[in-house]
Amino acid sequence: MATNGTEETPPTPIDIGGICQLQFQEAARILELDESVQDELRIPFRELSVHVPVLMRDGSVRSFQGFRVQHNGARGPTKGGIRYHPHVDREEVGGLAALMTWKTALLDVPFGGAKGGVSVDPKELELFELERLTRKFTERAALALGPYRDIPAPDMGTDAQVMAWLLDEYSSKRGYTPAVVTGKPVSLGGSLGRDEATGRGVMVTMREAARDFGITWAGGKAAIQGFGNVGGHLAALLDEEEVQVVAVTDADGGVVNEDGLDVPALLSHARRTGTVAEFPEADPLDDYSFWRVPCDYLVPAALGSVITKEDNVQDLDCRMVVEAANAPTTPIADKILYERGVPVIPDILANAGGVVVSYFEWTQNLQQMSWELEEVRQRLEKKMKAAYQDVVTLARKREVPLRTAAYTIAVERVAEAEALRGH
Ligand code: GLU
Repeated sequence: MATNGTEETPPTPIDIGGICQLQFQEAARILELDESVQDELRIPFRELSVHVPVLMRDGSVRSFQGFRVQHNGARGPTKGGIRYHPHVDREEVGGLAALMTWKTALLDVPFGGAKGGVSVDPKELELFELERLTRKFTERAALALGPYRDIPAPDMGTDAQVMAWLLDEYSSKRGYTPAVVTGKPVSLGGSLGRDEATGRGVMVTMREAARDFGITWAGGKAAIQGFGNVGGHLAALLDEEEVQVVAVTDADGGVVNEDGLDVPALLSHARRTGTVAEFPEADPLDDYSFWRVPCDYLVPAALGSVITKEDNVQDLDCRMVVEAANAPTTPIADKILYERGVPVIPDILANAGGVVVSYFEWTQNLQQMSWELEEVRQRLEKKMKAAYQDVVTLARKREVPLRTAAYTIAVERVAEAEALRGH
């Protein structure tokens, strides 16, 4: 791929790998990196593809395909989640792995970037089938994992229980190794505050940005796409901060109340029914209308490539976009928002709270210590604020979008580590 940044019309990728490449190229251009250094930072260090056969309840054997891509480990062991979703393929996992390299560098945690995934709809599997799939995937990927090699965590479609199976499978062959995976249940060495960490990190970053960009905080309005681990915790925290959550959607539907949803009631409705849809104290909302709800903060907290030129960017009625999901905005939509003066808090900053507390979990495991919840929260807040400040300062200095500033900081750190390590 051309890396000189001279193309007049950039391609319009909506795939995560393509999006990440374009951002990287822009940072590489600003930093005037040599072609050979760019290759070093662009091409994944190691990629693993595994066949995952699973014995199902009916006696049949179903085949799944699993991936683990270790993008760059110059700054430390590679780190990143494992995703269970039908869209998972090599390209998506590769793009998300690169995103983790930049995210860990930006937050200055001593990791590189990786990502894993299995192409499966976890909702179609029974619990014990999911356990078998996780164990088989772990068994076959284990040679590339380890506390000082590559450390998985939860991502879309996986949770603390999946991490517990991964830990058990890995430890059964190699001895008890809690630091091989983060996002574990607390009773197996997980960190307090890890489950809420991504949502809390988003909230802290939003609050900082609200102050800087002069947007009402207490009394302001937020719309959130996604009510899973990230969207759910974020809604609860915004409610605590007296930011009104006016609209929420998930895969099965959505709800809106322009005076603010009753978040605790919505959370218990969603826990009971599995969706926000049909929450009685609000009006129903479809996906088309969600993107047009007037609000201060629009927060995509689910899938990638949801804010696009074709579908919605011209109609967004918000003062700030906060990327709680990975790669929710396509590059063209991003450019349009920048020209309209709507700040976009980029994913590698906004949603980095998860990997920050993963770092705390790994640290606690290696030291066989456990920190109190308040300590985790305080340290997370400090890290998020420091990274936010680095990004805003550079964006202002260079008059570039926040995302370009974030990538520039991250790419420079990884390039420096690569150079120091030598060949
Ligand atoms: N899956 C999360 C992310 O995309 C967390 C990764 C981790 O904790 O290693 O940032």
